[in-house]
Amino acid sequence: MLEIRNLHARIAEDGTEIIRGLNLTVKAGEVAAIMGPNGSGKSTLSYILSGREDYEVTEGDILYNGESILELDPAERAAKGIFLAFQYPVEIPGVATMQFLKVAMNSQRKARGEDELTTPEFMRRVKEAAAELKINPDMLKRPLNVGFSGGEKKRAEILQMALLEPKLCILDETDSGLDIDALKIVADGVNALKRPDRATVVITHYQRLLDYIVPDTVHVLYKGQIVKTGDKSLALELEANGYADITGQAA
Ligand code: ADP
Ligand code: MG
Ligand code: MG
Repeated sequence: MLEIRNLHARIAEDGTEIIRGLNLTVKAGEVAAIMGPNGSGKSTLSYILSGREDYEVTEGDILYNGESILELDPAERAAKGIFLAFQYPVEIPGVATMQFLKVAMNSQRKARGEDELTTPEFMRRVKEAAAELKINPDMLKRPLNVGFSGGEKKRAEILQMALLEPKLCILDETDSGLDIDALKIVADGVNALKRPDRATVVITHYQRLLDYIVPDTVHVLYKGQIVKTGDKSLALELEANGYADITGQAA
């Protein structure tokens, strides 16, 4: 589903190369975890996958279902079923979460040439997804992310993911103050939304997240390259030994 081939990318503004020959393959149905020390380029990789303009790909390719996505803008990538979790953590005062979800779903449908959802159909889908993810529908009446706890933000994010029915989900779980409950919400959501025709890439600074999500594959990103690939046991090994073997430095 996702194939990254010899990707090199730099910061557009100053030309610093961050991604330096990265190769990664993720199959449909797979949950892949990307781990690695701070500053390795994990978040940069997720920004590049989303199509953010502040980064330039100088070499290599990103194939999604066999087609290069490098020329597509973020909205076109989303319309093709690529979901980037951090695209929506913005606070939107004055707009109920429910209303935001409807706009997000309908703009995606429009990009795909599909009709707008009727209100009853939209409501049916939201209720179904909220129930599957054990989300209290009362939260949806409040403005998106305004005054939400870390856990509520994660719930809203996972709900968006469920409703947009993506094929490729990319979640960058940055290390900014997420508590264990918020991590569990993400993990439960990823587990609940696992489908044979969907792939999820979980980028994580937390080994703990992988106590709750059981990844099919684990990849270590270091200095802009995938330097090690394995199964769940690799995550456990890293938890026990840190990244010293990979970085060549004492833990
Ligand atoms: P990680 O998510 O693995 O911690 P990042 O992708 O956030 O790593 O960062 C990788 C490296 O690139 C870091 O050294 C960071 O300072 C640098 N970097 C990333 N984006 C920018 C940017 N827009 N401007 C300056 N430096 C950046
Ligand atoms: Mg970082
Ligand atoms: Mg990061």
